[in-house]
Amino acid sequence: MPKIQMTTPLVEMDGDEMTRILWRMIKDKLLLPFIDLKTEYYDLGLLNRNDTKDQVTIDAAHATKRLGVAVKCATITPNQQRMEEYPQLTEMWKSPNATIRAILDGTVFRTPIVIDCIKPAVKNWLKPITIARHAYGDVYKAVELKTDEPGECTLTFKGESGREQTLTVQKTKGPAVFQAMHNLDSSIRSYAKSCFQYAVDTKQDLWFSTKDTISKVYDGRFKAIFDEEFENYKDAFKALGIEYFYTLIDDAVARVIRSKGGFIWACKNYDGDVMSDMISTAFGSLAMMTSVLVAPDGACEFEAAHGTVTRHYYNYLKGEKPATNPMATIFAWTGALRKRGELDKLPHLVSFAGRLEQACIDTLMSGKMPKELAALAEPGFTATAVSAEDFLDAVAARLS
Ligand code: NAP
Ligand code: MG
Repeated sequence: MPKIQMTTPLVEMDGDEMTRILWRMIKDKLLLPFIDLKTEYYDLGLLNRNDTKDQVTIDAAHATKRLGVAVKCATITPNQQRMEEYPQLTEMWKSPNATIRAILDGTVFRTPIVIDCIKPAVKNWLKPITIARHAYGDVYKAVELKTDEPGECTLTFKGESGREQTLTVQKTKGPAVFQAMHNLDSSIRSYAKSCFQYAVDTKQDLWFSTKDTISKVYDGRFKAIFDEEFENYKDAFKALGIEYFYTLIDDAVARVIRSKGGFIWACKNYDGDVMSDMISTAFGSLAMMTSVLVAPDGACEFEAAHGTVTRHYYNYLKGEKPATNPMATIFAWTGALRKRGELDKLPHLVSFAGRLEQACIDTLMSGKMPKELAALAEPGFTATAVSAEDFLDAVAARLS
């Protein structure tokens, strides 16, 4: 059988620990036998980031801007414990995802992979719900103050023109706490563009929620920028028969629970932090959650939402067969191959991505599943827990 041809390479970002082992297996068993795989390879493994003083991460992000589509393996973000585990580290390198996101100025969209034998906690959810979290500012870049005597707190902005604006926050009679936070028009606008772009790419409705009845200026600004940017996408939405819909966050929560799923929910930073944990837990497993970073210019980086699965890696080094679920990493590859195929007008590559996803789902539905999924299967469904390798072999056999 001739291999499926590619024209433009994907940016391939390798990673760490268990997911690095799975990465190699996925390529060897599911991709290389079927595709004439073209990639520009960047090794984002912790030791190579250290050897290149993290330049490799920056290069990989710029390559994504240039080529438009990337696929990334999970990577270690070093902390104090990792500095002790890897004494050769010369610096506590920043999170690669944060570096890449800063260069691409993108938004992260997270979507669960839904299968029939594992029902979400909310029984009317028939389709996945995608969360788009704005990842800049608000309480994550706030300044905070604790006081212990009566007094007055004010908020002052000093313009470069010399003009000043001051508000009284509160006059307090006793100990108090204060917080000031900000966001940028430019960041909100990039976020809005990425959301509208992704809705068009995936042909799904877009919901956006804030609390602009209470926060008239701050959240009101988010709503206004979304409205402005939507003007540029109105025709595309109409042509696809999809809808942009704004509502208050509390109304959104109620509607999401009552919904059938199948839409994108754009959330402010804090709401997205909280709601993405709720949505992923309600759909079942972190190992079934995919993630894509979408830049306002349309460049995309696909990955699994989970980390490097350290505990499984150390068991694997001791000789244990890993039970790690490779689904989200496989779907990162299929997402990237599909997008590459669409951009390069390669229908065989697009259909390969769909067939590989279907082969994975069919394998799960046949009862062969990674351990943590087998434990979630519906009563009455006969599931056999298999190792990552046996699962990949079963998918490869179906695909052939
Ligand atoms: P994690 O790697 O996501 O794993 C946490 C636990 O979740 C695992 O121990 C495992 O539970 C379960 N799990 C996650 N993915 C699974 C899979 N595919 N199959 C089966 N079980 C899975 O998170 P972490 O242990 O907090 O972080 C490990 C490293 O990953 C850290 O160095 C962190 O910096 C990095 N990280 C990277 C990214 C990224 O690159 N995007 C994201 C998050 C974390 P059991 O042990 O109970 O089996
Ligand atoms: Mg969280």
